Amino acid sequence: MRIEEVELPDPTGHQVVVREIASGICHSQLHTIHNPRPGDIVLGHEATGEVLAIGDQVTNVAPGDKVLITFQPRDLRTTDRMPEMARVSLADGGVAKSSNIFTWSTHTICDDQYVIAVPPDTPMDVTAPVGCAVLTGAGAVLRAAEVQPGQSVAIWGVGGVGLNAVAAARMAGADPIIAVDLDEAKLDLATRFGATHVVNAATTDPVAAVRELTPGPAGSFGFRGMPIAGVDYAFDVVAKPQSFAQAFAATRNSRNAVHGGGTTVVVGVPMESFELPAIEMLMNEKQIRGTIGGTAVPGEDIPKFVEWFKNGDLDLDALVTSRVGIDEINEACQMLDDGKVLGRSIIEF
Ligand SMILES: [Zn+2]
Repeated sequence: MRIEEVELPDPTGHQVVVREIASGICHSQLHTIHNPRPGDIVLGHEATGEVLAIGDQVTNVAPGDKVLITFQPRDLRTTDRMPEMARVSLADGGVAKSSNIFTWSTHTICDDQYVIAVPPDTPMDVTAPVGCAVLTGAGAVLRAAEVQPGQSVAIWGVGGVGLNAVAAARMAGADPIIAVDLDEAKLDLATRFGATHVVNAATTDPVAAVRELTPGPAGSFGFRGMPIAGVDYAFDVVAKPQSFAQAFAATRNSRNAVHGGGTTVVVGVPMESFELPAIEMLMNEKQIRGTIGGTAVPGEDIPKFVEWFKNGDLDLDALVTSRVGIDEINEACQMLDDGKVLGRSIIEF
């Protein structure tokens, strides 16, 4: 990546110009960095800031508002309008594009669908990851899976996104909440976020461990007398073939016409195809679903997550484990790639 100085235009229509305060550094951007692309791009998709100027069609925010920026449109249920994709004219005459927004920048210009006002007393540093990490992790639990009190969950990968799935599972009343990771320090952090049990998959078979923690009712049995053990929901935040296979295997078996099988929710970005024992979908009525951005409705969910933070239910101070300047962005991405970021890194402007 290179840093350039450019001139942003005055906003028109649904555009909003924001002076940024902080932006998170999300793992999914590494896929974009490492893969071929057609031309220059601008990156970053979660941030906080203050509105400087708005186009004449913008009604949800005003200059001076403190805002959170997200890559997920704030509510597509109320509009048929496709949000505008952000683009920046470069000094050499070229154009750098994003498929939604860009936030690794002191200022940004984006569609008002990606901007949500928050109360002016909101701390604007540690809330930077709300727009992706919190939305994706917590949304997967609340919106995609709709976890109910007493349901069992296991979360594969408890980094910046997975920790928020743990916190949301606690808020939903899930029990048990099992965190699975290869990193002991991440598992310790998961306990702080509400995990009732942790499994280090580097030293323990996570499928056996999860099934042992979630036995079905005594005497219950599934198809062909199989035991019912397993979680109602397994969240695969890692989204690699091995984590997916483990998560799928750790979901519970069905008891025909009494209850269905468990659901594996794919939360991370799968860069490879997965194989699965499809017979399990038939015999044990197991389900799979994907979710992008936690299937969240940011217009409703971001104010709620900010409330959780203010009430002490979501420890964003613990989620943010490293802070860098924009000039350190390449080093910060390398650290993330090397697995050296415990929770989330943020850029402070
Ligand atoms: Zn992200």
